[in-house]
Amino acid sequence: MAQDRVGSIYGSLVFTEAVMQERLPKPTYKELSHVINDGEPLDIDIANEVAHAMKEWALEKGATHYTHWFQPLTGITSEKHDSFITLKDDGNVLMTFSGKELVQGEPDASSFPSGGIRSTFEARGYTVWDPTSPAFIKDEVLCIPTAFISYTGEALDKKTPLLRSQVALEKQAKRLLALFGRHPKRVLTNIGPEQEYFLIREEDFQARPDLVLCGRTLFGCEPSKGQELDEHYFGAIRPTVNEFMKELDNELWKLGIPAKTKHNEVAPCQHELAPIYEQGSAAVDNNLLAMEKMKLLASHHGLACLLAEKPFAYVNGSGKHNNWSLSSDGYNLLEPGDDPEHNLQFLVILACLVAAVDEHADLIRASVASAGNDHRLGADEAPPAIVSVFLGDNLSPVVEALVNGTHSKAHGRELMDLGVPALPDVIRDNTDRNRTSPFAFTGNKFELRMCGSQQNISDPNVVINTAVAEQFDRFATDLEGVPADEFKARAMAWVRETLRDHQRIIFEGNGYSDDWEKEAGERGLANLRSTPEALPVLIDPANIAFFEKYAVLNTAELNAQYISKCEQYEKLLNIEANTMAYMVRHLYLPALIDYSGNVATSVATKAKIGIEASAEKEIVRTLTAGIDTIYSAVSDLEAENAEAQGKPTPQEQCNYYLSVVIPAMEHMRRTVDAMERLCGNDYWPVPSYNETLFYV
Ligand code: ADP
Ligand code: MG
Repeated sequence: MAQDRVGSIYGSLVFTEAVMQERLPKPTYKELSHVINDGEPLDIDIANEVAHAMKEWALEKGATHYTHWFQPLTGITSEKHDSFITLKDDGNVLMTFSGKELVQGEPDASSFPSGGIRSTFEARGYTVWDPTSPAFIKDEVLCIPTAFISYTGEALDKKTPLLRSQVALEKQAKRLLALFGRHPKRVLTNIGPEQEYFLIREEDFQARPDLVLCGRTLFGCEPSKGQELDEHYFGAIRPTVNEFMKELDNELWKLGIPAKTKHNEVAPCQHELAPIYEQGSAAVDNNLLAMEKMKLLASHHGLACLLAEKPFAYVNGSGKHNNWSLSSDGYNLLEPGDDPEHNLQFLVILACLVAAVDEHADLIRASVASAGNDHRLGADEAPPAIVSVFLGDNLSPVVEALVNGTHSKAHGRELMDLGVPALPDVIRDNTDRNRTSPFAFTGNKFELRMCGSQQNISDPNVVINTAVAEQFDRFATDLEGVPADEFKARAMAWVRETLRDHQRIIFEGNGYSDDWEKEAGERGLANLRSTPEALPVLIDPANIAFFEKYAVLNTAELNAQYISKCEQYEKLLNIEANTMAYMVRHLYLPALIDYSGNVATSVATKAKIGIEASAEKEIVRTLTAGIDTIYSAVSDLEAENAEAQGKPTPQEQCNYYLSVVIPAMEHMRRTVDAMERLCGNDYWPVPSYNETLFYV
């Protein structure tokens, strides 16, 4: 039965708390669970016992190696495999794994980006076990989730700041909740990442150097058909893709990843996978694992999975919606309550969220900045680069009434005592979705829709968590010490004031319209259109002070993030420009020379027997002119790319790519695409958009 099948594989490759409980001596388990759940320090004796149990379990599952699995600043995941073997005197091997090996590793990895924190002679970085994320087995390797830190203790990864931001948020949330008489054991974030991706035939993928090297097509004339018929979205899933999805579900379930929803997306060949939401850092880990599995498993089905934000021009790109909420011992704090007091608490939290986004809109924007995402944000397929908050039909009248001091009878219900508005029973807002909004309230969670499909979503969550922590801190600081009989009125006034101060960030209209861009400007909202414009926000002194105040990131770490993001941008664009030049010189020009030469031969042959062949002459003329244009465009592109590479700082390199090299790349593409339209199919060296996007 399916129930038994899924039930028996679910989490079978994870060293879960249940497995620990079963395999560890009772006192050891108890101590470890304090470490995991209450953040207590880890004792080496405990680590030794856990390591032993983990190894025995892993060996039973067929694992031969272990790895410290971590998330360097590049955003991908990293691993170096060590086998469990040790040599005995008699030449035989023993499988061993110590507490020390579990707790700390030292990847001799001088080539991970460190943004200058580590100089190469002191290239040491350490990986440190994160016992709050369970270990798992992947391809016969026991993977131990770790944080990656420098010799001097700075975070060199995406995970450490995320964990710190969760700590900061929990601490401030507890102060806020205490004022409402609540003293939860834990306050945790929940994240549900909806992952979009493309699947194409592996042979088409292999035949295109731009897809292989850059993950996206750099050339390709407009296909005869795009997504205009709206036939792909939620359409029947083709059998090959369905086979892939089934295997993916199974593999993810084994890893304890709660894969839930799968469907076809808007663009041809585009799909989505959404898991059930989980505790923040676990959800991020699992999203990274899911992306890895997608890429690997596609090849089992003769397919290639594209995770890049914009693999194809002319059709939608891919994003990742970051659904975010906060729960207090399992109670969702973003769920409006049934009584006025819960409603007051909800309104305080809502006001904090609105203020958090307004105060740190620039950081939210910067947290999703990448070369790939620049193709989407503001391109009428994803939210604009201007950050705003959408509250929906149910909530926005309540907020409006609060700000204006009018006593709204929201949805026909009376105002409750103490000026706490009665919130509509069903605030869940399933119909009125504003897809153009970057940050939308969707019933009992907020959805950040700006993330790129291939990005590690730690970065935006670090910003959201810390920004919300700051507002909770402000509320608690303002209200602590207020006499009990004044608390409600004062809290209400605080909500009003906060919403009034930050109302400019709330926008219910069409985020794609030009009018909004204008209005947002008038409201003083930032519009950081591109990555090079957005990244300097990371090292703005006010932003550094903000992160330092909550012990989430320090100056050196923010600098490292900034430099490493600039480098990612500049390096990727260098690769794209190089790939373009390579394809032009080695594929497109030879193909066009070949084809035009053959047509010219035909013209000459026909002339010999007195046939005019004027159309063919015209084709030869156009192709030859196209070859000339392409030839000069590629030289220009190479020269501009060299110029960009020669710029002295990463920021200047980025700026030069944005202002000069990207336009040169666009021009390069146009010259080639124009010729693709004329060239014989048998001559064209790579699969066309028509073939790639509409395979059968
Ligand atoms: P949509 O209609 O936007 O596609 P759903 O409502 O089905 O989305 O939810 C999408 C994602 O949001 C899923 O990953 C789901 O688990 C997650 N989600 C639902 N509720 C919450 C919550 N309270 N906190 C965080 N994520 C949530
Ligand atoms: Mg959604």
